[in-house]
Amino acid sequence: MTQITHWINGALDTKKPERSGDIYNPATGKVTGTVAFGNAATVDSAVSAATAAFAEWRHSSLTKRTQVLFAFRELVAQNKEKIAALITAEHGKVLSDAAGEVTRGLEVVEFACGIPHLLKGGFSEEVSTGVDVYSIRQALGPVAIISPFNFPAMVPMWFFPVAIACGNTVVVKPSEKDPSAAMFMAQLWKEAGLPDGVFNIVHGDKEVVDALLVHPGIKSISFVGSTPIARYVYETGTKAGKRVQALGGAKNHMIVLPDSDLELAADAAINAGFGSAGERCMAISAIVAVEPIGNALVARIKSRMANIVTGDGTKGSDMGPLVTAVHRDKVASYIEAGAKEGATVVVDGRDLKVDGDGFFLGPTLLDNVSPKMSVYTDEIFGPVLSILRVNTYDEALNLVNSHQYGNGTAIFTNDGGAARRFQNEVEVGMVGINVPIPVPMAYYSFGGWKNSLFGDSHAHGTEGVHFFTRGKVVTSRWLDPSHGGINLGFPQND
Ligand code: NAD
Repeated sequence: MTQITHWINGALDTKKPERSGDIYNPATGKVTGTVAFGNAATVDSAVSAATAAFAEWRHSSLTKRTQVLFAFRELVAQNKEKIAALITAEHGKVLSDAAGEVTRGLEVVEFACGIPHLLKGGFSEEVSTGVDVYSIRQALGPVAIISPFNFPAMVPMWFFPVAIACGNTVVVKPSEKDPSAAMFMAQLWKEAGLPDGVFNIVHGDKEVVDALLVHPGIKSISFVGSTPIARYVYETGTKAGKRVQALGGAKNHMIVLPDSDLELAADAAINAGFGSAGERCMAISAIVAVEPIGNALVARIKSRMANIVTGDGTKGSDMGPLVTAVHRDKVASYIEAGAKEGATVVVDGRDLKVDGDGFFLGPTLLDNVSPKMSVYTDEIFGPVLSILRVNTYDEALNLVNSHQYGNGTAIFTNDGGAARRFQNEVEVGMVGINVPIPVPMAYYSFGGWKNSLFGDSHAHGTEGVHFFTRGKVVTSRWLDPSHGGINLGFPQND
């Protein structure tokens, strides 16, 4: 049994926790460990360590910071398979998906290695006679990162490489469901030469989150999770005077126009709908088929679904279990609700039988879904694809724009004009054109619109650097003796 505890000031916390939670292997349904749940005092000791470390780290040279980042990059790359195995054991996603998430996180570390360039300010000479103006960006202090279960390595890595590179110190609160990947990375930071106290981890649930949101030593909050909690975190954190970026839930639409390549669209629907068992904030969960291609598309998706092997993510399956039994049952209840509300259940994942007590649910396809059904209005976060049928591009666009979420979307078409119109008109933060999961590269910024993001800063890229720094503008005048200024006693040319 693994026993996970907090990581504060470069060491494991040895105090016996008052509360703890169970960690499960979702593929077997068995408890494999426990995780300590912190409280306000734990947060306080992590923030004290981060505050003490900040005094030095903010003055560490850009050369020193990039050396540590490059070393961390190498260590994560060398240990990618180990981190992936930790993720699969606690989250359930298949090993290749887990390794993929580490790769995407690494890209943010690589982006942060360019911090000397990213922190360059501006300079305007002679804005008035003898007066120069320049801008600099400075670190905030200790910052908090609160992450969801579905990407236990990648989501914290959207934030902490950039935060640390900018000179901040961090307190991470990982999901209590899969805390091991973050712990492993804490050790890699130490090995990379990061001073103790710059990277801290406090485990727990709402109690820890609440303590971080109001702690006066915490200067910013980066949160990723479901929309109700994201809204709460944004409102509470900003009320306490902190800058907050809170990324929430999603319902991503894929529009398939009649002129699209249906084989490509069907392949995309399978990967984007069922990869990581649909537990991705960029998963496609609603496909909008613009007639007359509805029947042909559904037939292609259905035939491909027959080939998806659902099972233990360490044993060569295509799709693993859901994260908990409770979540599996909640997702299954949406299939029931969809059927009752009039959707056609083309493939029913509840029919799947996998030996053992794992939290499995097979891939599910619902056709003839209408906008009022709960399978459409709600984020399901599981392997359930809904098909909506419409007659025109405008109807399809209206569906996407009317939805409460605006994280990602995709259009499949061979018409450049239609694609260009869509990218302009759609009210969603991340758009794919014949690309089903348009996750921006690390040097762009990741984030949605509407109820998918509270705050105005997206993650990583230049918005990430901006979020983790404060701007300062200096207006400077040095009196020059040779131009009639005060003679300060410097040697002068006659
Ligand atoms: P969640 O909202 O349940 O939990 C997220 C974090 O908040 C966890 O660390 C959790 O411990 C904490 N938390 C839970 N309940 C809380 C409460 N009442 N008060 C304070 N903190 C609380 O989300 P989850 O189930 O771990 O993750 C899945 C959700 O995350 C989905 O909605 C998914 O769309 C979303 N997500 C969004 C993005 C994005 O980029 N927009 C990325 C990944 C996941």
